[in-house]
Amino acid sequence: MTLATSDSTALIESGVESVDIDINTDLCIGTGRCVLTAPKVFTQNDDGVSSLIEDADPVADEKLVHEAAAFCPVQAIKVSADSTLS
Ligand code: SF4
Repeated sequence: MTLATSDSTALIESGVESVDIDINTDLCIGTGRCVLTAPKVFTQNDDGVSSLIEDADPVADEKLVHEAAAFCPVQAIKVSADSTLS
């Protein structure tokens, strides 16, 4: 699952214009750490598997998204951010 977005306010503050998030749902074991870390971006389905909130703004929560990926015990979350700075 991939979500890319752009928010002008977050862009000015962070220099990041898009954040791509991939969740490997085959790896996810449903700990919920990502939801606790970035609750505006991640949610869990009825089986506990992580997914992205449909209208989430991962640019605004970029730092938390990276933390969520780092804290995932099975490395199911991959994050890449495109910066406006070269
Ligand atoms: S932290 Fe990782 S294992 Fe836990 S719910 Fe999120 S994606 Fe799944």
